[in-house]
Amino acid sequence: MADNCVFCKIIRGELPSFKVYEDDKTLAFLDIHPISAGHTLVIPKAETARNIFDVTPEDWMATTETARKVAHALEKAMHADGVNIMMNNREHAGQVVDHPHIHVIPRYKGDGLGQWQHKAYKEGEANSIKEKIRSAL
Ligand SMILES: [Zn+2]
Repeated sequence: MADNCVFCKIIRGELPSFKVYEDDKTLAFLDIHPISAGHTLVIPKAETARNIFDVTPEDWMATTETARKVAHALEKAMHADGVNIMMNNREHAGQVVDHPHIHVIPRYKGDGLGQWQHKAYKEGEANSIKEKIRSAL
């Protein structure tokens, strides 16, 4: 999977990127199709995982810590009024590149970006779902 992965190519320096941060385990660089200016992707450098379902706990923790640092930097450098941190996992959740990546997206007052629509649970549904999730943990 790593040979054709564009993020692995960025890690190996085979593709250019606008790097904003790098340490032993993670890399952060600008998304070339930003939702807003400063939209940054944070990835683990390990070339073995595709998403949240196979990333190691160590790589996940390192990646989320880098995302936290980037969020602070976006607030300071880009004067963001807020930040969305999100991750798409697998095709039907919108994942395009099969390498774990966290989006850190600066938000600005009046930026016009919408929020996801919320729904309501039917009577008893929330409790049933809670039980299913609890038993899977
Ligand atoms: Zn990769």
